Amino acid sequence: MISVKKAQSIIIDNIKSIGFETVSLENAGNRIHAEDIIATFPMPLFDNSAMDGFAVRAADTKDANKSLPVTLRMTGISSAGTPSDIILQSGECAQCMTGGKIPKGADSIVIVENSSGFSDSTTVEIFKEAKAGDHIRKQGEEIQKGDVVIPKGTCITPSEIGVLATFGYEKLSVMIKPKVAIFVTGNELIEPGKKIKSGQIYNSNLYMLSELVEKSGAEIVIREVIKDDRSSLRILLSDALQNCDVIISSGGVSMGRFDYVREVYKGLGVQEHFWKVAQKPGKPLFFGTLESSLIFGLPGNPISSFICYVEYIHPVIQGFQNKKKNLKHRAILTKNFAVESKKHRYLFGKSWINSSGKLLCLPVSKHGSHMLTASLESNCILESPPGKKELRAGDKITINLLNWRNL
Ligand code: AMP
Ligand code: MG
Repeated sequence: MISVKKAQSIIIDNIKSIGFETVSLENAGNRIHAEDIIATFPMPLFDNSAMDGFAVRAADTKDANKSLPVTLRMTGISSAGTPSDIILQSGECAQCMTGGKIPKGADSIVIVENSSGFSDSTTVEIFKEAKAGDHIRKQGEEIQKGDVVIPKGTCITPSEIGVLATFGYEKLSVMIKPKVAIFVTGNELIEPGKKIKSGQIYNSNLYMLSELVEKSGAEIVIREVIKDDRSSLRILLSDALQNCDVIISSGGVSMGRFDYVREVYKGLGVQEHFWKVAQKPGKPLFFGTLESSLIFGLPGNPISSFICYVEYIHPVIQGFQNKKKNLKHRAILTKNFAVESKKHRYLFGKSWINSSGKLLCLPVSKHGSHMLTASLESNCILESPPGKKELRAGDKITINLLNWRNL
């Protein structure tokens, strides 16, 4: 039996990057940037108006007010998409709409509310003195040409999509999604929707693990339910070993008489890196490799499968894609947490930020690894390495935030 730390480092050492591909902007959501995105031009691209109004030379509006307006000569219109090539001289102005290019010679915008208004007249009255720079969005004030706008390894969310479009990217390079096979094993399993018979249970892990894999951003290529029988295990697993980057099985990996998964993996040439980790739940966790495939045998209890997935497999799928996001934080316990003397203890829990801005957490009261409903009220997994002393309310503990849940 090895420690959690050792298990994690063995797994990390076996992660290889699996390359990148080009996708169009429409299909880039939730993918991971394979390259830094560079600003190919400054943003804003040109000086433009932040408001609807008049482009003026600020000096011309000196002391202007409602009772003593300044009258300027109108020379033209600059609107968004239709710039004007006028060069403003002293005493002149141009109508300039939001987003319109600032005409040469102008140094500020007087908003239309501070004037006699838009019209076809050859003059306009200005009611307020302008200061140089008023209501002008300066070229490059947001981003300079050549700046890294989005670093590689970032997940593409609505913000990234919008910024990519802003800089004119139509296609981009993203990490290839790892291909994943999910197997659940057990003679007792029956599919939701079917009538349940004596001794049977509904198969929850296949659905739960599939959803977890989706959340991690990988592609599921095989999903199977297998009986506790060596030959069907062998046939299905050997197919997956040839076609997938990550193979996940649940069940059949403990000490039971019908637990054949480990034996079948090894018979198919999988190199075992470890079996059994000093942790609760999830002690019988198996990890092996075959060429570049990573193989995980998760114990079948739903909470064990769930926690092992989040702690061991999610980081692998992120690592394959060079994605960097640490969801582990330190939070203050609001209830005692029973530390195990020899095992790393994981428990689902709830975390939140209190009114003084502190991150607090509460472990669930349902401790059994078969009690999947404990995860319903949770948004994180609490964890403590082995130790002699119970952690008490007020002590700090590490939490792993489930990134699809809110604090
Ligand atoms: P095993 O690891 O195969 O010994 O299974 C441990 C426990 O998890 C047993 O109570 C199984 O019935 C249960 N179990 C195994 N696979 C699943 C599954 N796919 N869905 C729900 N429970 C499962
Ligand atoms: Mg079983």
